[in-house]
Amino acid sequence: MINFEYSRATDVADAVRQIAADPNAKFIAGGTNLIDLMKDDVERPTRLIDITRLPLKSVEETGGGGLRIGALVPNSDLAYHPLIAQRYPMLASAILAGASAQLRNMASTGGNLLQRTRCAYFYDIATPCNKREPASGCSAINGLNRGHAILGTSESCIATHPSDMCVALAALDAKVHVAGPTGERTIALTDFHRLPGDAPQRDTNLQANEIVTAVELPARGFKKNYTYLKVRDRLSYAFALVSIAAALELDGSTIKDARLALGGVAHKPWRDQAAEAALRGQAAEAATFAQAADLLLSEAKGYAHNTFKISLARRGIVRALTQAAQGTPQSQSDKKIA
Ligand SMILES: Cc1cc2nc3c(=O)[nH]c(=O)nc-3n(C[C@H](O)[C@H](O)[C@H](O)COP(=O)(O)OP(=O)(O)OC[C@H]3O[C@@H](n4cnc5c(N)ncnc54)[C@H](O)[C@@H]3O)c2cc1C
Ligand code: SF4
Repeated sequence: MINFEYSRATDVADAVRQIAADPNAKFIAGGTNLIDLMKDDVERPTRLIDITRLPLKSVEETGGGGLRIGALVPNSDLAYHPLIAQRYPMLASAILAGASAQLRNMASTGGNLLQRTRCAYFYDIATPCNKREPASGCSAINGLNRGHAILGTSESCIATHPSDMCVALAALDAKVHVAGPTGERTIALTDFHRLPGDAPQRDTNLQANEIVTAVELPARGFKKNYTYLKVRDRLSYAFALVSIAAALELDGSTIKDARLALGGVAHKPWRDQAAEAALRGQAAEAATFAQAADLLLSEAKGYAHNTFKISLARRGIVRALTQAAQGTPQSQSDKKIA
């Protein structure tokens, strides 16, 4: 048993003051990831700062027609919130594709952004892992890497970011609001998570003394032509091998605008604006979608056990864009538990 202290933050300023005072402290929200990491000795915080009573649990309309989602809104409440279900169904679908109903009841919006990779070596403290122990080596590159990344990898780390929610948020141009000792700032969701480079221990661009307070969605929700397609080993309660958030705005059968982001393929949600640009102005048909997929995957690189992900992603992108164009989104199996 490794001892740690526990304290409760009274407001956002107090949370920032407490985290700034102790570089080895961690916030705890739903605890669905952090507690597992502590049990496995992967994370050893000296203090847990409980933020669950902070007033960050509401979904509010913004002046610009978007929504501001508090960092403590549970994943299940968010997915079933009427404004999300009506205006941003791709986000609802992505959230419901993740974890289980019980986990989604506990998991928070902020915690989902900051959940850590599911690379098995990261969780096994008997093996080298640059993310857990910088400069110790990467066991996955020459190990079992079936679930690992094919885009944006480095020689230091080939882990993936496991979130479903974040893939939809990347496609929707979401922003992350954070607060720190010097005030508040906003980070585009696509800039929030990092590629591994030579510092895979840093998952995000959030500073150690900052707290996520909210996620903001712009007005456009692509509620008509969208899908979130998640390909995984089991139909539920499994992380993505490849997932695709696809959204289109159509003028007849011509693509006026497109959004395309992938999960399960990189250290961050992988949004590709070049592939989106290639879709604009084109006919919404399989040949167009295949060209965009080829462009997106042109620099994909497989390892010993995950090369199949490249062709899986290609087929998945074509299927997802076809579902989006036809207005027949992938349905998720989980139903609301009253
Ligand atoms: C068995 C299992 C299966 C799962 N399957 C999926 C899946 O298929 N898809 C998917 O997307 N997810 C999946 N998850 C992950 C789940 O979504 C995350 O564990 C959850 O979203 C984390 O939220 P939390 O509030 O519990 O975070 P916590 O565990 O409380 O915290 C996680 C991290 O975030 C930090 N943190 C939390 N809130 C804040 C904040 N406001 N500001 C700054 N830092 C903060 C904590 O310090 C910690 O480092 C699964 C989890 C489990 C256990
Ligand atoms: S892929 Fe990343 S998380 Fe996994 S063992 Fe290598 S360094 Fe660690």
